[in-house]
Amino acid sequence: MQIGQVIWDVELTRPEFPEVSGQLDCDVCVIGLGGSGLTATLAAAQQGLNVIAIDADRLAAGAGGRNGGLLLAGIADFYHNAKEMVGHDRARKMYQATLDEMDRMQATVPDAVTRGGALRLAHDESELADCKKHFEALIEDGFPAEWYEGPQGTGINITSDGVFHPTKRVIKLAQLATEAGARIFTHSPALSVNSGEVITPNGKVNAKNILVAVDGNLHKVLPELSDKVRPVRLQMIGTAPTNEVKFEYAVYVRDGWDYWQQLPNGRVAIGGGRDLSIETEFTDVNEPTEFMRKYLIDRLDGLNVKAEIEYHWSAIVGYTHNDLPIAQIVKPNVYAVGGYCGTGNVIGALLGRAVIEKIATGHSEVFDTFASA
Ligand SMILES: Cc1cc2nc3c(=O)[nH]c(=O)nc-3n(C[C@H](O)[C@H](O)[C@H](O)COP(=O)(O)OP(=O)(O)OC[C@H]3O[C@@H](n4cnc5c(N)ncnc54)[C@H](O)[C@@H]3O)c2cc1C
Repeated sequence: MQIGQVIWDVELTRPEFPEVSGQLDCDVCVIGLGGSGLTATLAAAQQGLNVIAIDADRLAAGAGGRNGGLLLAGIADFYHNAKEMVGHDRARKMYQATLDEMDRMQATVPDAVTRGGALRLAHDESELADCKKHFEALIEDGFPAEWYEGPQGTGINITSDGVFHPTKRVIKLAQLATEAGARIFTHSPALSVNSGEVITPNGKVNAKNILVAVDGNLHKVLPELSDKVRPVRLQMIGTAPTNEVKFEYAVYVRDGWDYWQQLPNGRVAIGGGRDLSIETEFTDVNEPTEFMRKYLIDRLDGLNVKAEIEYHWSAIVGYTHNDLPIAQIVKPNVYAVGGYCGTGNVIGALLGRAVIEKIATGHSEVFDTFASA
């Protein structure tokens, strides 16, 4: 087993980029080259902005290249709960905006995205009752969903959801962004971020606008946000290709604590169990643990998957105290997005793009809808 190695990197090589060196000038500096930052970088370049994008490590070194590959509409809370939390109108706008973003993701990287539905399954009677409420709320507002009773269990098939290949996506986004004129730099951590300038170990980026899109590291890059967002470690394991099972759909269950999918090559990737060790996983130490490996192996066993475990990896994400993502102007012309509470593949892209829209045009309805209280 390769501990730390991620299932998505098999047979793919990420491109390398230079380090920031000396003084550079731009309209927008994007900090963080995950799905959120890269979507913003591409959008900025396509808007004709002079954009520089930097990462502390390599391309999508964080959760953007190390996640479960589920594409889910909405915010972290299920739709019926979101309605109660933020009000019906705002929840509906948020949900619709994520559906629109999924359409754009699919159009931008069609080879990496498959939208054939994803299942929220019920683990027990109480979750079944909650699935029904969730389903009814979606149907009432005309959002795509079907009741599912089939070989994978009982619950909701959210037919507009799906899966994607995280590494393929980021490689393609970086390629498109550079072709559109963006300048990308890796191994260049932002050491300090102030209005107008980003300092790196060997250089400085003078930027009219700055977007910080570092999710699990927001508390460090912008200490102003440290009372709003905390780092959390999420872990997954991946099997060798297997035909013991045939999971048609990606799944999440136990209120989203556990999630899995079978890849086209037959490998099964499964994550979850954080609720069983909640305090140890509130950490920014990016190291997989034996406890979680054992839980995930047992979970696979329960799904009749006995194939060899080949991968065990983790990454750090940001969780907010109110379950809502951060979309905020932290200081003049310095924007922050993140704190997606473990479901940022779609919202992160959406909010990164919204910040660029706000910078380019002075207004973004999506930014205003999500803007942190
Ligand atoms: C195991 C796991 C499974 C998950 N499964 C799902 C899922 O199925 N569906 C879903 O929607 N979400 C899932 N998530 C959450 C999702 O992956 C994240 O919300 C999303 O990837 C966040 O993207 P991002 O671009 O905002 O941040 P990241 O992808 O984390 O990127 C941040 C980047 O910022 C860089 N960075 C950090 N500090 C600095 C600095 N000082 N200077 C410069 N760069 C810096 C990092 O190196 C990193 O590349 C999962 C996460 C994990 C860990």
